[in-house]
Amino acid sequence: LQIHSAEFVTSAVAPEGYPPGDHPEVAFAGRSNVGKSSLINCLLGRKKLVRTSRTPGRTQTLNFFLINESFYFVDLPGYGYAKVPQKIREQWGPMIERYLTTRRRLSGVVHIMDLRHPPTTDDLLLWNWLREMGIPAVPVLTKADKVSRGNRARHLRDASQRLGIEPREAVVFSAVTREGWQALWERLMPWIGY
Ligand code: GDP
Repeated sequence: LQIHSAEFVTSAVAPEGYPPGDHPEVAFAGRSNVGKSSLINCLLGRKKLVRTSRTPGRTQTLNFFLINESFYFVDLPGYGYAKVPQKIREQWGPMIERYLTTRRRLSGVVHIMDLRHPPTTDDLLLWNWLREMGIPAVPVLTKADKVSRGNRARHLRDASQRLGIEPREAVVFSAVTREGWQALWERLMPWIGY
């Protein structure tokens, strides 16, 4: 897939702020610091389109990026960062839930987790909720370059078991080596009309 344009369009906290038009959207969700910004930048072949967060959990908006003038990537704020003030954490749930449950042109969610560690309680909460809501989601296990070849299969199997999926349903990814780039795009293409 050729990315000929990728631009930040807008930030929003509520439907009034979502961009108009009818392009399909892919949302990206994950724990703070999981590697979400790096993954989006890697997918798009852009170094700093999405700023990697210095203060995890600080940006509490939905950020819309228009790609190839034909679909949106929506960067959802990271969850599960202990230092985020309670007040902000309380806003996170409703803001995300509202977007995920009401946005008609949302094609699906890329749910990013860490291959090095089993899915966290927060990861499982979101994953199971997406399934209950019937929202299409692809589980991505990132930072694969940090796991030795010998341990890959076990980490993938453990994560899959917790998520209740077959290991082949997950995409193993690394923003450093770009492993999984093709596999992930292949999962996204039907969502964005390619
Ligand atoms: P975000 O908070 O989820 O957006 O996470 P970032 O993309 O800012 O990444 C958090 C940290 O993990 C940064 O130090 C990144 O350089 C690092 N990181 C992200 N993805 C990878 C990866 O695939 N491999 C390795 N080794 N490090 C990564």
